[in-house]
Amino acid sequence: MQVEFEKVDAYEPDRTLKGKLRRRLIRLAHRRPAQVSLERPMVSFSFDDAPATACEAGARVLEARGLRGTYYFAAGLAGRDGPMGRFASGEDARRLHEAGHEIACHTYSHLDCGQSSRAATLEDVDRNAKSLAAWGAGEPVSFAYPYGDVAAPAKTALSGRFKTLRALHHGLITNGADLNQTPAVGIEGEEGFAQKDRGLRIDGVASLGETVDRDDRGCALPLDHDLGHVSFPAACAAACRPGPFRPSGS
Ligand SMILES: [Zn+2]
Repeated sequence: MQVEFEKVDAYEPDRTLKGKLRRRLIRLAHRRPAQVSLERPMVSFSFDDAPATACEAGARVLEARGLRGTYYFAAGLAGRDGPMGRFASGEDARRLHEAGHEIACHTYSHLDCGQSSRAATLEDVDRNAKSLAAWGAGEPVSFAYPYGDVAAPAKTALSGRFKTLRALHHGLITNGADLNQTPAVGIEGEEGFAQKDRGLRIDGVASLGETVDRDDRGCALPLDHDLGHVSFPAACAAACRPGPFRPSGS
């Protein structure tokens, strides 16, 4: 039987002043400080939602340099059409997992954790984790909040459930960073251009490595939805340790 999927529409999380304030304040609460002691700078490349292009072109770019990425899958989107094209399937996730990439957890329905209750969050996240395992893509140990947004009910519900819970505010993971709401370095869209203004040139991801160098022992989590257009200079591969970020903290 042919399964018909409904197209996924773009969704805008709360952009009001109240929403912005809530996002600022939640970063100060329910924290789980990281203990970072890296011998050298480290970059973890991650893709949210996992559009098919990220699993194909993105994976090719990384693998050609001996690197692996982290793919945050929302199983409820798998195989559907979305604003950025077709989302990858469970089969894609299993293939990436077998090639050594990390298949990580988003939420099943791409739930807005800035608005969801504790019970709804846990149910959606558990459903997603079970789906990834059923695909043969392993048990996820990392999580990313859809839209980078979270409020207290979801943050407390998921605290400690995963090694890292990634948000979208800009920054490196240094000592004391909150593992329940880690920063990231976006390299697409407006944020990518903003970084260019700040000297973090996206067309030289090597510059990210240089930035990490300056900051010493930091860890950057660059993220993109579709990396088909980005090239990785050799200097970056040399500067960065391949593989997903594993904090030494609790
Ligand atoms: Zn997402």
